[in-house]
Amino acid sequence: MSAAVLSIGSNVGDRLAYLRGCVELLGDAVLAASPVYSTAPWGGATRDDFLNAVLLVEDRDADAWEWLRRGQCCEAAARRARGLRWGPRTLDVDVIDVIDEERIRQDDPRLTLPHPRAHQRAFVLVPWLDIAPHAVLAGRGTVAELLAALPAAERRSVHRRDDLRLRSL
Ligand code: ADP
Ligand code: MG
Repeated sequence: MSAAVLSIGSNVGDRLAYLRGCVELLGDAVLAASPVYSTAPWGGATRDDFLNAVLLVEDRDADAWEWLRRGQCCEAAARRARGLRWGPRTLDVDVIDVIDEERIRQDDPRLTLPHPRAHQRAFVLVPWLDIAPHAVLAGRGTVAELLAALPAAERRSVHRRDDLRLRSL
């Protein structure tokens, strides 16, 4: 039995459809899905904004590696859907944090937990806080504190899109 926090993002094509496809593939494991946020891309490029969201997932048969594998399956499905091989990110799924009896902390480059850059990313912290107001990022502090400590520009880079939903109600 393990529970995980997944960050999902897309910045090309039908971005909402890719995020929704991921939620659909994860199926009953999805306990909560955050609102959708748009995030301006780094470096002022002319690309589309990212759409980002955070999912809480749980499955009695999954360990941390299995969450990575399921995320990669979702990424592969999104690439296949577009027929693109190495194109821009139709879907990126990052494993942010896993609790499997206890919280997993590991430095393996194939799966580093907690995710080593999550605490710097408003597009992870803001939607995570929406669905888990008391969440803690192991070794770093509460999500609320981490968010408050970010540069204002980083906090302002995410915009909640109440017009977009991951699941129909
Ligand atoms: P990024 O998400 O950093 O922009 P990629 O999605 O291309 O880049 O990175 C994927 C690689 O990162 C994979 O090979 C995966 O094994 C590794 N990785 C290490 N830790 C994690 C994690 N916590 N979540 C997802 N992928 C991870
Ligand atoms: Mg990734």
